[in-house]
Amino acid sequence: MKSIKEINFAGKKVLLRVDFNVPMDDQKRITDDTRMRESMPTIEKLLADGAAVIIMAHFGRPKKGGFEPELTLEPVAKYLETLVGRPVRFTQQLLGSGVPEQMARDLKGGEVMLLENIRFYPGETKGDEELARQLADLGDCYINDAFGAAHREHSSTAVIARFFPQAKYFGFLMENEVRNLEKLMHDAPRPFTAIIGGSKVSSKIGILENLLDKVDNMIIIGGMRYTFTKALGGRIGNSICEDDKLDLARELMRRMDEKGVCYYLPVDSVIGDKFSNDANTQIVPSGEVPDGWESMDCGPDSCRAIHDIVLASKTILWNGPAGVFELATFAKGTHSIASSVAEACKQGCFAAVGGGDSVAAVKQMGIADQMSYVSTGGGAMLEYLEGKVLPGIKAIQD
Ligand code: ADP
Ligand code: MG
Repeated sequence: MKSIKEINFAGKKVLLRVDFNVPMDDQKRITDDTRMRESMPTIEKLLADGAAVIIMAHFGRPKKGGFEPELTLEPVAKYLETLVGRPVRFTQQLLGSGVPEQMARDLKGGEVMLLENIRFYPGETKGDEELARQLADLGDCYINDAFGAAHREHSSTAVIARFFPQAKYFGFLMENEVRNLEKLMHDAPRPFTAIIGGSKVSSKIGILENLLDKVDNMIIIGGMRYTFTKALGGRIGNSICEDDKLDLARELMRRMDEKGVCYYLPVDSVIGDKFSNDANTQIVPSGEVPDGWESMDCGPDSCRAIHDIVLASKTILWNGPAGVFELATFAKGTHSIASSVAEACKQGCFAAVGGGDSVAAVKQMGIADQMSYVSTGGGAMLEYLEGKVLPGIKAIQD
């Protein structure tokens, strides 16, 4: 497959799907522009080539079917002008009115246009082909750079690609995500260690099952490990546990044994007498949490053991914090693992971090840039790790 790096888009009208679903305050000011900046390399490359760039993006979750003033992309269009250093053409009129159609026809090389919130069209989330055709009519080729929406089979993220069988590409951000994910799942140097945590086993079953055949070591941390600890007969006090998943936890451990995957559950826990930063705390063996106490982080012995496993690995996949890292009192385990992974990276290990909260944790610590790869797509990356085919990726690769 060709990278956009190898193509000159001069004179082309390029339809570019991005993820500009940025957080805004109640004054409609963008509070974090990371997602917009992440697609800037693609936009800058197209403008440098002299392409006319027609950008498609969604914002929030429109419900009414049609224009909703609270969810207009107008503030994003304004902000984008400061990033690209040139005017951004924008209209709140929707396709069918003839207004965006005319604007797209008039757009010249080196100019940028942003279409209004693509989810104002009821067909978008249904993957409506007619909408995809209307969009496709605006341009000569299609580039998808919206990894955050790659797990959706929507008109602008997947279906539209059908209209450009010879002219569909990944943007730089997508290309980077796909390259790293494929390395992780199909070409990972051994030993390969997965560190899987978070609050619920139920939300990570698909990932645990898919990784069984791929990894050498599986470290199970976070709130979900107490379901495993209880399944092994441990006392977990008030720690979170999914009682209906105890059999599943036993089954997963049996399958890991069968496949020769070394799994590791933290041996000690930081427990608190309430879910708060000023809780009284103790460190106890993981299966000996007294009644009335809740385990909210892994303890120092576990952190040391995890450090050793991590430093002996050539590939690491980390999803899910070790504890309730949002509370400083219970953030040490997550921070310790993040430091161990960063150290492994310095020694040449390939380490990928994904998941909304896990990425927030490494960013909070200021060490995201020490990881080999931090995924920009929460839900999309998790679905990929479950072994699912992402429609946004498939549509380009087909
Ligand atoms: P990600 O978004 O990275 O996939 P999850 O959403 O699965 O991660 O899990 C993150 C949440 O898990 C965090 O809000 C964290 O507070 C919670 N968590 C971690 N350990 C515990 C624990 N021991 N008890 C309760 N919640 C926990
Ligand atoms: Mg999460």
